[in-house]
Amino acid sequence: MRVIEQLNNSRNTAFSFEILPPLKGNSIHKVYSVIDKLREFDPKYINITSHHSEFIYKTLPDGTYQRVNIRKRPGSVAIASAIQNKYGITAVPHIICKGFTKDETEYALIDLNFLGVYDLLLLRGDTKTLDPNQDKSQYHTYATELQEQVNNFNKGVAVDGSTFEANETPFSYGMACYPEKHEEAPNMESDVYYAKMKVENGADYLVTQMFFDNEKYYAFVDRCRKEGITVPIIPGIKPIVFKNQLTVLPKIFRSDIPEPLAAGLRTCKTDSDAKSIGIEWCKEQCRDLIAHNVPSLHFYTFMAVDSVWQVAKEVY
Ligand code: FAD
Repeated sequence: MRVIEQLNNSRNTAFSFEILPPLKGNSIHKVYSVIDKLREFDPKYINITSHHSEFIYKTLPDGTYQRVNIRKRPGSVAIASAIQNKYGITAVPHIICKGFTKDETEYALIDLNFLGVYDLLLLRGDTKTLDPNQDKSQYHTYATELQEQVNNFNKGVAVDGSTFEANETPFSYGMACYPEKHEEAPNMESDVYYAKMKVENGADYLVTQMFFDNEKYYAFVDRCRKEGITVPIIPGIKPIVFKNQLTVLPKIFRSDIPEPLAAGLRTCKTDSDAKSIGIEWCKEQCRDLIAHNVPSLHFYTFMAVDSVWQVAKEVY
């Protein structure tokens, strides 16, 4: 069943989560072990992140450097299909436009269609480690341009403008939004304007960047509703696991850590202390979100699978 149908049909707050493909060379069983652990909470859908190639400099024996292009976490399309076949759970691969040419995206859409994976999350993708010399004309700049490509694909129009018989089963998709504003957006008005554009052009739902202060999420949802965005806005949740996330998460994801949580983390001597505080905070956050009848709690599980399990055990 499509994600949007799952959300519309679910009377209670659904459980869902995001996984990363294993590092290149590792077995898919790493992914299965995460799903096996979290399966008891009846996930309605599972997202699989997508990662572009990065240029890195390898030191050679003679002390010189070699510039190499590597994709550290390949396999999102194959993993999505494997999850659906093995577990019968809707898989949602992330399709990103940075680092993937429009042609590569088209081939991924063809593969996904053949594999029976029809739900996507459309994103721009991280840009921090992108090759600055890439030919920009081959890549989309914004997620809305990728969205246009997917909409065209659904209508049977290819990237080069040629036409083909439209697929019987079109893709449906969600897109990203930012309760605390995307780092590059000049202001919240502008960010909400583009979120609205995503919905007007066909996004069935929006998923938020992680946040730790529910009031920011509620204020953001109110603002979106006033702007006429009526689709589900799914909260993205991550329990803090490491002491250093106190400074790392605001830096990478621009998510504020509320002072009571920050104060607790400052007193931690070990990561294990931080993990306990992160779990307790996350439980409270989730209970409050469920009390507010949010459509789904969408957990970011990277390095946090055990914490997510402990939170879900309490709140579901
Ligand atoms: P966009 O919607 O393109 O927005 C980027 C910026 O441009 C924003 O400031 C926005 O306000 C502005 N903007 C949007 N549209 C336009 C337009 N048409 N014209 C001008 N300005 C515009 N990254 C990965 O690499 N892989 C992943 O798998 C991944 N999964 C994610 C999942 C979720 C739920 C979220 C919230 C983020 C994820 N990210 C992932 C990170 C994401 O790629 C980054 O946050 C990225 O910087 C922005 O992505 P976006 O889709 O929101 O971009």
